[in-house]
Amino acid sequence: MIETSIDSIPNIFQDLRASFNAGKTKSLAWRKKQLEQLFKMCDEQKEVFASAAYADFHRPTAETLLFDCGVIRNECIHVLNHIDEWARDESRSDSLAYATMDKYIHPEPFGICLIIGAWNYPFLLTLSPLVGAIAAGNCVVLKPSELAPNSAAITATMVERYLDPSCIRVVLGAVDQTQTLLKGDINHIFYTGSTSVGKLIMKAAAEKMVPVILECGGKSPVYIADDANIAVTAKRIAWGKTINCGQTCVAPDYILCSKTTESRLIPEIVKAWQSFYTDNPSNSDSYCHIVNDRHFERVKRLIDSTKVVYGGQTDAKQNFIEPTIMTNVNGNDKVMQEEIFGPILPIVTVNNENEAIEFINARPKPLALYVFTSNNNLAKTIINSTSSGSTCVNDVIFQIAPPCLPFGGVGESGIGNYHGKNSFDAFSHSRSVAYSPTWAERLIAKRNPPYTKKKTAS
Ligand code: NAD
Repeated sequence: MIETSIDSIPNIFQDLRASFNAGKTKSLAWRKKQLEQLFKMCDEQKEVFASAAYADFHRPTAETLLFDCGVIRNECIHVLNHIDEWARDESRSDSLAYATMDKYIHPEPFGICLIIGAWNYPFLLTLSPLVGAIAAGNCVVLKPSELAPNSAAITATMVERYLDPSCIRVVLGAVDQTQTLLKGDINHIFYTGSTSVGKLIMKAAAEKMVPVILECGGKSPVYIADDANIAVTAKRIAWGKTINCGQTCVAPDYILCSKTTESRLIPEIVKAWQSFYTDNPSNSDSYCHIVNDRHFERVKRLIDSTKVVYGGQTDAKQNFIEPTIMTNVNGNDKVMQEEIFGPILPIVTVNNENEAIEFINARPKPLALYVFTSNNNLAKTIINSTSSGSTCVNDVIFQIAPPCLPFGGVGESGIGNYHGKNSFDAFSHSRSVAYSPTWAERLIAKRNPPYTKKKTAS
């Protein structure tokens, strides 16, 4: 793996600070140019990116083209269409008491932002936050995950080729590099990854008193009511569970449904998987593999063969795990103790929505929660009785696509959010500005000592 030398990191910060202090990134023309270049990079180099992710974890080309490059390009277009409006000072007014002051919010960049990415969507999770950081006028250090080394290396090469290296840099490496960056001259941290490392990032942020956004994970439940359209439900869950081999932060982690629904659901999910990947997914170029040996062993250990009703085959040589369904699962099973992050679908049976709500609320707040039902009132009851980063009714994962909706966690699944305008806000300080006119001195005279009864009377 190519690594950035620790010794070179202080110089990177020196260069970025000089550019920021010179006001380079504050210019709207500079921001737009960088966003256009980022769009161009994700268009011209999409096949190169896809090859790197394929080399890293047998990731299907289409998944990189659609879910990384395509999404980043759309994000660039959306931001370019709105940046003039978002970057403008926003006038504010309130009570008559302060009517003499001219008041507005001036969005200002933080300075140098550190973006730490996870490996599972290796381009999206560094470059999508980058869109927001550029739009808001920041300098940026990107730290892609070392677990997808080919993707990380090509990110470094292309960012240097397409974007302004005096303001945007990539540092390659693992814990040592990240820890050095966290002690560096940073003004903001945007982190994507596990909750356990997220807590370390937050401690480091506290030491420097810099704001932090944490995009973490967790077990995202799916509740399926008996009135759900089972054929559509099964196909959508089958898709969400196995794209990227289940290594998606908002993947449906486990199902809660009645015994009757379970028996209708399983054959439909199997049918969907076979239509996606054939009977032999280990030969399918549309089926992704597990990222490395350590994660392969971890996911494999979650499979209890006595509870498998479909799948369960593994092949250590290619880090392959077959799409797998487990039944008779309860909260004490190993597969229910941690985020699965793999293609295993456990089904926990419940008698009704109240039992499902109780089960969900007894666990940490998830990044996503999914409800399948044809009754919108039931969906609302579940939404109002639980908490999650986001929710999609009658689908999975899709709620994170529209740029008008913020994406982020709550509780252990994360702090803060981004996408669209929320990305601009995530990387901006909302600076309050008020102009107090000198002609109004008489109107505010009662604030001055000596304090008399008359002055405090009303
Ligand atoms: P990870 O926590 O192992 O690593 C994330 C990043 O942190 C990497 O860049 C890594 O180099 C760095 N890192 C690791 N250990 C560190 C340490 N001790 N000190 C400083 N930096 C360190 O996460 P991962 O395995 O790459 O990703 C999987 C997790 O990320 C899952 O829980 C998943 O749900 C979550 N995730 C969340 C989102 C989201 O948007 N909410 C997206 C993708 C993944």
